Amino acid sequence: MILLNDFARQWRDTSEDACAAFTAVGESGWYILGNEVRQFERELAALWQTDHAVGVASGLDAIEISLRVLGCTPGDRVLTTPISAFATTLAIVKAGGVPVFADVDASGSIDLDGAREAMHADPRIKFFLPVHLYGHALDLEKISAMQREFGVAVIEDCAQAVLARSREMPLGSIGRMAATSFYPTKNLGAMGDGGAILTGNEEYAKAARMFRDYGQSAKYRHSAIGYNSRLDELQAALLRRAGLPRLERWTERRRKIAQTYLDRIANPALRIPPAPAGSHSCWHLFPLLVPPEHKPAFLAHLKGRGIGAGEHYPVAIPDQPALAGAAFDIAACGIERARIFCCSEVSLPIHPYLNDSEIGVVVDAVNSWAP
Ligand SMILES: *Cc1c(COP(=O)(O)O)cnc(C)c1O
Repeated sequence: MILLNDFARQWRDTSEDACAAFTAVGESGWYILGNEVRQFERELAALWQTDHAVGVASGLDAIEISLRVLGCTPGDRVLTTPISAFATTLAIVKAGGVPVFADVDASGSIDLDGAREAMHADPRIKFFLPVHLYGHALDLEKISAMQREFGVAVIEDCAQAVLARSREMPLGSIGRMAATSFYPTKNLGAMGDGGAILTGNEEYAKAARMFRDYGQSAKYRHSAIGYNSRLDELQAALLRRAGLPRLERWTERRRKIAQTYLDRIANPALRIPPAPAGSHSCWHLFPLLVPPEHKPAFLAHLKGRGIGAGEHYPVAIPDQPALAGAAFDIAACGIERARIFCCSEVSLPIHPYLNDSEIGVVVDAVNSWAP
């Protein structure tokens, strides 16, 4: 079986470093907010070419806390995308915000021209939460221009986009804050949950540290209604000692596999959605588009060849039952392209432990399929 993610192979590669991380934390006698988290935050900030990283319990919390730090209060409108992990929207709703959805473009990411129109039409939109989907980078120059023109506070959802760049710009560099996730399937994954907030602003970083620790500004002094959302020492040690030293290599491997797929996949019944302009992608996922009526048959074909494929994501977020009673809005552009994209998308395995012969099996299976 060719898995979408192969954690057993990853363990064979990382176990020595992971066990050393476990030992180091055990011997330190310190499990929450200690040296491992501090050191990991320093290394992570350097990796993102920013000044501050704040470890939190998940990517979801990283987004919600960023919204809170930037002053999102109940009823504030937050523009975002209908295609993402549900967590992106969940963070807005949990912070009391009202999600406003704009449609996607051919890449499956939020259409920045449509987003611009939505901001123009609705001056009540105060926040913009774009998602760098599939490991692609949205056009940061465009987002930066929107930030200047409309005065919206931008939080970049970078959960799928560690080490991706927009032209030469690192992600997270134009938004006021950025959020990422260490969920095990992410490009930099922990052995459990974790996330981080990235920012160049010292005050925001300080506020995020307060929010993650019950809103404590000093020991037993609570200045805000906060969260229990601390990255723990064990996950920080695993990420720092087993993950970070391999991240560059993992990313190169993902890029190599993507290039092979791009070069060799040729099937007139399928399309590979284009990356946004200027994206130097880190290829968290490799999406393909199948005519919606043939998607089940294509998934069954891959399964029959022993290939574990995924769907990211089969349902547009505004259509999820959880939002049925919630306050949200859809911009004038609608979300029809997003709905069609969701019915069409299939993700191929692209994890860094795929070997060349498995990549060949995937290419052959894709190319030999006919509707
Ligand atoms: C995974 C993911 C999240 C949520 O991260 P968790 O750590 O699972 O809470 C948010 N946004 C995107 C785009 C994601 O892929």
